[in-house]
Amino acid sequence: MEESVRQVIDGLSLPFFNDLIQNQDAISYSDSLQKPLVILRWRHRVCQTCSDSFDISREGRFYRCGRCLI
Ligand SMILES: [Zn+2]
Repeated sequence: MEESVRQVIDGLSLPFFNDLIQNQDAISYSDSLQKPLVILRWRHRVCQTCSDSFDISREGRFYRCGRCLI
């Protein structure tokens, strides 16, 4: 991992494992843009299509949940 990415993750004070930031409150794509280096590192995200939150380690891709990919 790049040092700049590591610094952003360290600054969040959230658990980090399996290459994902273990956030409890799902983050939206628009909010994720505030930290561009870690857009694809959040575990819980808000789907851009249906606005439901989902766990990227279980389903989905980018900011779209498993149901909305079909
Ligand atoms: Zn969805």
